[in-house]
Amino acid sequence: NTSVGSNFIQNEINDDLKNGYYPEGVHTRFPPEPNGYLHIGHAKSICLNFGLAKNNGGICNLRFDDTNPVKEDVEYVDSIQEDIKWLGFSWDDRMFFASDYFGKLYDYAVELIKKGLAYVDDLTAEEIRSYRGTLTEPGKESPYRNRSVEENLELFQKMKAGEFGDGEKVLRAKIDMAAPNIVMRDPVIYRIAHVSHHRTGDEWCIYPMYDFAHPLSDAIEEITHSVCTLEFEDHRPFYDWLLDALGFKVGARPRQIEFARLNLTNTVTSKRKLRQLVEEGYVSGWDDPRMPTISGLRRRGYTPNSLRTFCEEIGVAKANSLVDVAMLEHCVRDDLNKNADRIMAVLHPLKVVITNYPEGQKEFMVADNNPNTSAHRYVPFFRELYIEQEDFMEDAPKKFFRLKPEGEVRLKHGYIIKCEEVIKDEAGNVVELHCTYDPESKTGGATANRKVKGTIHWVSAEDAIEAEVRLYDYLIETDENGEVPADFLAAVNKKSLEVVEHALIEPSASFTAVGTHYQFLRTGYFVVDKDTTPEKLVFNRVVGLKDSWAK
Ligand code: ATP
Ligand code: MG
Ligand code: MG
Repeated sequence: NTSVGSNFIQNEINDDLKNGYYPEGVHTRFPPEPNGYLHIGHAKSICLNFGLAKNNGGICNLRFDDTNPVKEDVEYVDSIQEDIKWLGFSWDDRMFFASDYFGKLYDYAVELIKKGLAYVDDLTAEEIRSYRGTLTEPGKESPYRNRSVEENLELFQKMKAGEFGDGEKVLRAKIDMAAPNIVMRDPVIYRIAHVSHHRTGDEWCIYPMYDFAHPLSDAIEEITHSVCTLEFEDHRPFYDWLLDALGFKVGARPRQIEFARLNLTNTVTSKRKLRQLVEEGYVSGWDDPRMPTISGLRRRGYTPNSLRTFCEEIGVAKANSLVDVAMLEHCVRDDLNKNADRIMAVLHPLKVVITNYPEGQKEFMVADNNPNTSAHRYVPFFRELYIEQEDFMEDAPKKFFRLKPEGEVRLKHGYIIKCEEVIKDEAGNVVELHCTYDPESKTGGATANRKVKGTIHWVSAEDAIEAEVRLYDYLIETDENGEVPADFLAAVNKKSLEVVEHALIEPSASFTAVGTHYQFLRTGYFVVDKDTTPEKLVFNRVVGLKDSWAK
């Protein structure tokens, strides 16, 4: 069991089951609208819905909420399935499309009309808005509100037959224009849109509104608990009104339960805004490794396990809050710390020549892949090496325990070396170091236990492979609270991508598969990017080594 087992939604489910409701068991659904790629907020909803079903021995449907043809596309239908599977969840044969219910939804609308609970309205969208009233003022009834059932049936039929243009008429539920909850002031339930749908083509020119389609899709699928985000709380009375009106009984019909949506510091979690970042070229696509989309996180090197752990750890609450993105990073760091193989990689190379190491000689150092296993590899050692530029300092302060003139340092998995000479170019830049090594200082040697303060990583000049390494920073800059400003485009971090074109990597990583994770010793966690070709390896930095998450 996960922590999903003990949240307020589970408590509600327990109460329902105790009351004898839902004898067939718990049935949830994840209902994405296929109008964009899934993001980290959706991951929370996926883990919650599939998790609740699993913890209660129930089932969870995948339902595409595709009732708004204008913004929807099959590209998204495909990416959403891929992302959910990758996260580790399966819906078996329970994939549905709300558009498959268009016929049934139409019949339900007709039933409402026959009951005198819906009417065709000729007011324009703007008039409807102004008639709706405000929080402090009741709404005004439409002059078309009291059409007869017969007239409504005929007009609705004509709407369906395409006899009216977009916006000329709508179908509204007939509830109460003075209701304190504005959602209950005769909400629109059908509108005319002469637009092709990605599944139903031109079969329909009227489309149901979300508030009408969603509860009924839930009821048609025999969902028991319809979990959604807090902004739908005001819509729950209509959810219940509609099911009441159509004769679905409490205890057998679905009920809506709201939870707080995930908000993350430094992160945009709205498909609309993410689309803007893609379409206006701020990022390379929906799967840009800086994007909080599931495909972006995957490419960045996040693991399914780390995202599921994150969703468990943040829990499920009834009040909105802002989660520190450092916690998300903590989850992937933790996972990769346990599971990623270690290798050595030098991002900004400085050449080192070991002057007393025999020319042409090569030996192989034994290096452990991961402290949690006994697996190891052999790393070639050669007279000419590269170390990290920042691991050498000419005028080093006392506390600098890496390499300095006359100083000693241990090469990880190798020997102790001493810096004898600093070679500079005409401009005075350090271009090469001449060092000597202590031949007895490697593991098993006579001076192996000699204490030197620093240990640095390195690669053999002859064997290292070149790679491009992409270093990322937050896409959105924020104040110290981490909240994304309303004008988020103005807060896009122009330095969120730094490309290191000629990093040098230990040869054990050649021919590695796209998606393979490594810890580059002392540098961070990295993953092989899909831009890798047989000629060139490309790595993304997932996260650095240092954890800034404090519980
Ligand atoms: P967006 O505002 O990004 O378009 P949405 O809610 O319109 O999000 P849907 O495709 O309708 O996107 O979402 C599918 C499900 O995921 C819904 O049940 C929704 O409540 C949930 N969801 C979306 N965003 C979040 C979030 N940030 N945190 C938790 N759940 C979310
Ligand atoms: Mg939605
Ligand atoms: Mg949306």
